Amino acid sequence: MPIIDEERIAALLADPRFTDEGRQRDTIAKARSRERLTLEDVAALLHTRSRDIREEIHLAARDEKKRIYGNRLVFFAPLYLTNRCVNNCLYCSFRRENDELVRATLTQDEIRREVEFLLEQGHKRLLLVAGEHPKEAPLEYIGQSIATVYDARWNGANIRRANINAAPMTVDEFRALKSFGIGTYQCFQETYHRETYAHVHPSGRKRDYDWRVTAMDRAIEAGIDDVGIGVLFGLYDYRFEVMAMMQHILHLEEHFDGVGPHTISIPRLEPALNAPLDSTNSPWTVADEDFQTVVAILRLAVPYTGMILSTRENADTRRGLFDFGISQISAGSRTDPGGYMASDHATSEQFQLGDHRPMDEVVRDVVSLGYMPSFCTACYRSGRTGDRFMDLAKSGNIGKICAPNALATFEEYLNDFAGDDTREAAKALMQAELDAMPEKTREKTEEMIRKVDGGEKDIYL
Ligand code: SF4
Ligand code: SF4
Repeated sequence: MPIIDEERIAALLADPRFTDEGRQRDTIAKARSRERLTLEDVAALLHTRSRDIREEIHLAARDEKKRIYGNRLVFFAPLYLTNRCVNNCLYCSFRRENDELVRATLTQDEIRREVEFLLEQGHKRLLLVAGEHPKEAPLEYIGQSIATVYDARWNGANIRRANINAAPMTVDEFRALKSFGIGTYQCFQETYHRETYAHVHPSGRKRDYDWRVTAMDRAIEAGIDDVGIGVLFGLYDYRFEVMAMMQHILHLEEHFDGVGPHTISIPRLEPALNAPLDSTNSPWTVADEDFQTVVAILRLAVPYTGMILSTRENADTRRGLFDFGISQISAGSRTDPGGYMASDHATSEQFQLGDHRPMDEVVRDVVSLGYMPSFCTACYRSGRTGDRFMDLAKSGNIGKICAPNALATFEEYLNDFAGDDTREAAKALMQAELDAMPEKTREKTEEMIRKVDGGEKDIYL
């Protein structure tokens, strides 16, 4: 069986039974009763055109998000290592044929300086990103870079989790990658639709659809049990992409003892320097309203998989999506190598950012909306990955760990990195969180906060 069965997806998306509003409402009720949704169920939700039913999907997703993740949002920042790339993706400014891009590959010294900048902002969790270039960014370079990231210090602070987004590898290469101490390995299929995939990847190593769609199988076989998948929404019909992503998830769960991806990323196509394809000319650009429904449907379909939102989206769009199922956000991001230390980004970044606000402003905004910023990196460092993580998540017990960790790590941020306004704004939220906790959890969390206030760092369960 192929991982992605396009004929089956087409048949389900054309099946008139799923246009029935009763069937759609039954599916929402099924999700609310915590029964796992099937591919047919997801098709039913994707069929909906009714504003009322969409609203019901959004409300159900909001409730599920609250039940599993509470109001926490985990923060991270991307760190671009190189914008040199052998591929030619039509939607990306890093593509090989873009002569207007100013190219750079960071030295280890430059990486250290970038990390020091991010540490000074309060970041603890990074996503390393590299264009695909066997000569400029070989595996050894990635290994050195990860070591540099973990070694960097600013005022005693250090990066506690380095995830990586990199091109597919062989099993042996993935074993080496794991040995560097990475958190999650990310690789996005971009589009699961073969014909579109061939069109938007006209040349380069990335042209091989099958090599990419099987990357996670090899990564997991190599022992990397936290993997992250993603789609670049806007390359093809979002309904197809959501169905195909579900098939990918079901494939991984079937082959790896019920453990699917740790995270899903949902970037949307944006304009990029000298990129022939962008949100202004793609026939498949996803409207804001549809995008909200996509996030909500994914939340209901895979409630225990983290969902990541980047600064591609502007501040308003981001605010509108937190409720429907986002669990991780980037903040204060740059998408060009050396971008945190540079003042000009237009000729070296991967795509246009929508949210340019500095980190502390985003944190303050998130707090004002009632969300709890978290800088937690506990699970990976406590060995809670793969099936151990999923068991905790599915039993509903992960929240008992996430909540105290969120408060302790946020307190550390507030003490060491936040501006006065952010500190002031956070007081009431912190207290409300503590008040809402069961007594034992509250006592434990208060003890953790006291330790942080006493000068201890990196307190977590
Ligand atoms: Fe290279 Fe990735 Fe950009 Fe494609 S999307 S050109 S692989 S950096
Ligand atoms: Fe993530 Fe684990 Fe921390 Fe919860 S406790 S926020 S799942 S790292």
